[in-house]
Amino acid sequence: MVQHVGIIGAGQMGNGIAHVFAVAGYDVLLSDINAEALVKALKKVEANLHRQVVKGLISDDEAKAALARVKTDTTLDGFSEVDLAIEAATENEKVKIAIFQQLCPILKADAILATNTSSISITRLASTTDRPEKFIGLHFMNPVPVMKLVELIRGIATSEETYKVAETFIAKIGKTSANSEDFPAFIVNRLLLPMINEAVYTLYEGVGSVESIDKAMRLGANHPMGPLQLADFIGLDTCLSIMQVLYEGLADTKYRPCPLLVKYVEAGWIGKKVNRGFYDYRGEEPVPTR
Ligand code: NAD
Repeated sequence: MVQHVGIIGAGQMGNGIAHVFAVAGYDVLLSDINAEALVKALKKVEANLHRQVVKGLISDDEAKAALARVKTDTTLDGFSEVDLAIEAATENEKVKIAIFQQLCPILKADAILATNTSSISITRLASTTDRPEKFIGLHFMNPVPVMKLVELIRGIATSEETYKVAETFIAKIGKTSANSEDFPAFIVNRLLLPMINEAVYTLYEGVGSVESIDKAMRLGANHPMGPLQLADFIGLDTCLSIMQVLYEGLADTKYRPCPLLVKYVEAGWIGKKVNRGFYDYRGEEPVPTR
């Protein structure tokens, strides 16, 4: 049974995953190599719990209890206690493999190991661990406390038991799972990212400004958020790596990352998390950067 959950990577996704497990009553250990990221993550969890209290979704006592269940650490030492480890570090295969190599000898033999990768092959990642049958893809959506879906992805070796356990804890944290087979970018990002990349091409080719592209898709296609604003929320670095995985994994030029997306990433303007991407978020209101 899963009771103690460890999360590696305390960025946008890690703090949200910690939040939902803590609210559901699990003990959470959140780890990051960057101590500052952990401080920021705890603040974010606290702020998001408060929002849920204000909305009447949880009580003040539940929020306090949830926050008290989240422990943080810059090392992986405490992972010897966890029943489930979820890797939610930077979308870079080498980084993830290095984490698994460090983590596996620490984990209990029966602990499940999951990755929140947006696009990298679950089968390939699993093969670098000591437990491919206990390895699974859990693709949470951003922002985790709000979004209902978790894509569940089996690697070729993932056991039926591991899949069933995952379905159970996904339901317990109040999320709905959808099965996706292990192909580049799974379902949601296979559809979403080419649209975002096309929006960047539309900007690059001068078809529309940042504002008109986002307005067009909000009001013309009834999307709650324009594609460029959404890209800023996802992180342009993450968007670019997903496009590269699609481009390389499916060997089709229709997935070529837009050169303007590459340029924004090179500039370090990678979206909301650094306060600048297709919009500049440093003032009162977001201002388009093109
Ligand atoms: P992020 O950049 O906000 O956070 C990544 C965190 O990982 C950082 O705090 C970094 O310090 C930490 N990290 C890097 N190397 C580490 C290591 N060796 N050990 C421990 N921590 C390490 O990224 P994010 O948006 O939270 O994305 C994390 C993962 O979730 C990626 O695999 C991404 O593809 C996936 N994901 C992202 C989204 C999204 O919308 N952003 C949605 C679903 C899945």
